[in-house]
Amino acid sequence: MKYYDQHMHTYYSYDSEEHFENYLPLADDKFLVTTEHLDFHNPYTGYQDDSADYEAYAAEIAKLNETYNGRILKGIEIGYTPGDRNEIRDYLKGKTYDVMLLSVHQNGKYDFMQKEILEQTLEETLEEYYSLMLAAVTDFKEANILTHFEYGLRLYDVTVADLEKVEPLLLQVFKKAVENNLAFELNSKSMFKYGNAHLYEYGIELYKEAGGTLFTVGSDAHVAADYEAHFVDMFAMLGRHGVEELVVFKNQQPTMVKRP
Ligand SMILES: [Zn+2]
Ligand SMILES: [Zn+2]
Repeated sequence: MKYYDQHMHTYYSYDSEEHFENYLPLADDKFLVTTEHLDFHNPYTGYQDDSADYEAYAAEIAKLNETYNGRILKGIEIGYTPGDRNEIRDYLKGKTYDVMLLSVHQNGKYDFMQKEILEQTLEETLEEYYSLMLAAVTDFKEANILTHFEYGLRLYDVTVADLEKVEPLLLQVFKKAVENNLAFELNSKSMFKYGNAHLYEYGIELYKEAGGTLFTVGSDAHVAADYEAHFVDMFAMLGRHGVEELVVFKNQQPTMVKRP
């Protein structure tokens, strides 16, 4: 099996208008999975509950799969907050996914990419963001991939030395992630749009130190033009860190595949 992009969005996500049909020609003979947003009380949309219409999503995929030989898989990106944990679980009841991403996007007041977050010092945000992430990985054992581990820091200029100041906390996050078989994602947007590739050099090693062996790369595409963006660079980075295999999920079951 070939590695395939495990992080992308279509119009089933609140912030994308893309359609499956535009991704499909790019995926040739590979599986294609979209990971649609689930963000309750989303500060970006005036504290709306943003979720995919699952019935419509599953039906459209089933229909397309008649033409595309079952190559299209179902996925979700869960935006976790401790306050939304029950609503998230209620939403997931009776729904099935091939891959479940676990993300921390907000702190209950602001999304970490809203400028209001800069009212906090970097030190405060580091402490808050990784405390929230620890809650997420501790609570949400059924997820498969821990996404964009530096999302909360994107508005700041962050050095590896800054991250090292919270290393004990971050190591705790990764140890819990490893315990729960959560893969570590290299996120194309984080690394090449927001310039945080250097933080991934550090994150990969710390996740390995925590015992982690499961890695994924994801484009986080919201338009088809970003499908598999910078995959060559991310595979090369993994190679420099001695990572020879990546993990893919189908029916939430992991399969190791050779690094392309
Ligand atoms: Zn995200
Ligand atoms: Zn995403």
